Amino acid sequence: MPDRLKIPDNLSINDLVEKVKKYSTHKDLDLIWLAYETAKAAHAEQKRVSGAPYIIHPLAAAYILAGMRLDVQLVAAALLHDVPEDTNVTIEEIEKDFGKDIAGMVSGITKLGKLKYRGMERYMENLRKMFVAMAEDVRVMIIKFADRVHNLTTLSALPEDKRYRIALESLEIYAPIANRLGMGEFRGLLEDLSFPYVFPKEYQKVKEIQDRMFTEGETLIEKILTMLRKELKESQVKLIDLHGRRKQLYSFYQKLLRKGWDSDKVYDVIALRVILKDVSDCYATLGIIHKLWRPLKGRIKDYIAQPKPNGYQSLHTTVFYDEGKIVEFQIRTQEMHNDAEFGVAAHWHYDEFGIKQPAKNIRWAEDLAAIQKEVLNNVGDLEQLKIDFFKNRIFVFTPKGDVIDLPEDATPVDFAYHIHTEIGNRCSGVKINDSLASLSTPLKSGDVIEIIIDKNRKTPSQDWIKFVKTHLARNHIKNALKTAEHDSWLKFVLPKRKQRI
Ligand code: MN
Repeated sequence: MPDRLKIPDNLSINDLVEKVKKYSTHKDLDLIWLAYETAKAAHAEQKRVSGAPYIIHPLAAAYILAGMRLDVQLVAAALLHDVPEDTNVTIEEIEKDFGKDIAGMVSGITKLGKLKYRGMERYMENLRKMFVAMAEDVRVMIIKFADRVHNLTTLSALPEDKRYRIALESLEIYAPIANRLGMGEFRGLLEDLSFPYVFPKEYQKVKEIQDRMFTEGETLIEKILTMLRKELKESQVKLIDLHGRRKQLYSFYQKLLRKGWDSDKVYDVIALRVILKDVSDCYATLGIIHKLWRPLKGRIKDYIAQPKPNGYQSLHTTVFYDEGKIVEFQIRTQEMHNDAEFGVAAHWHYDEFGIKQPAKNIRWAEDLAAIQKEVLNNVGDLEQLKIDFFKNRIFVFTPKGDVIDLPEDATPVDFAYHIHTEIGNRCSGVKINDSLASLSTPLKSGDVIEIIIDKNRKTPSQDWIKFVKTHLARNHIKNALKTAEHDSWLKFVLPKRKQRI
């Protein structure tokens, strides 16, 4: 773990407060204290499997988020994240003391529930819940990552089969989601902490290779850094930061697999990061680097002009620095750097000047559909188990922003029955993203659906059966039609009663 996130042995509330102090106000600190006292009192009777007092766990999750300089609302919610699930304190009480925002996050985490490892079906159920929670408030996922990272650091206290299961799930599900959300730092932590439990032998081997390469390269790297510093100064390019970073172990392993274990073909085992004021300085620096060292053909990548799908931006180049020795440079602005480390969480991250980045306009549900597919590709034995529980789901929204998940190609009628039987029976039209549409239109992830109701209508249309996709809708329609038929038959055979006044 990077130093600023490393959890001290005897982690205390003071450690957390010190971290938060670096980027926050006094009022924020009061909130942290209050959340801590509440959680501590609530968990007083509980212990971790390791025997440690339970409060250590939420404290550590909060500490990781504070190490990333994330908003105190998030940090406070992390302190409270296991309270409603495990103790007598309710969400209502949390809302009373901490307000709607924090209570909403805590409730999101509680809905996810404690993950219990009971076979594939349960696993998929968890996954589905996770996507719904994430679509509602992505911060829930950020807290969940911190929760998981701490659990991974204490995995050795658990029995072996559980260790493997948790580590595997982190690798197959959590890490790819973090990646898709652009959260490089969390992805790296989740992967590297899980790696030794899932692939112990490979882990040892990869670690040895990397250590060797790192020792060999270290002094030369220092030389390169000094040379570049000097040259940038002479060209009057203002450097914000320059550091060497070691490739994360699991991602090194993935690359080794792709390159047939030929470590000479992995050029970014150590990469040098150059952080600059603005984009034009980035291009100027690329030129300076190429003037100093000869670039490798086909290794100059402009992810500034053409960002990666997860939004990653940087200039990459690989150069020869010494008799066939090779090193990679990653050149970026501070904002790009924060984005690469924090991804969507960058909006809740405070930089050294106490400034948060504006919210990025991210089309959540659309992204979620893509993330879903990617994650499912990672889950190895899924096909074999033939569970399509989660496959091909879409996420749509009510006008109030509630998330409803439906099977792919579900229609507004499916949506209506999902909300309420009567809404289904009486629906007469629909607005999809504010425009009128036909009731048979296949819905797409991200659509906002507003059902138009005809209050006088009592029965659904026979035609709907032809296009609905869910059993729920189909059954409701059939039942309603049957009842209606029965009623009209009754009307026919029974004489009309006089209405009483
Ligand atoms: Mn937890």
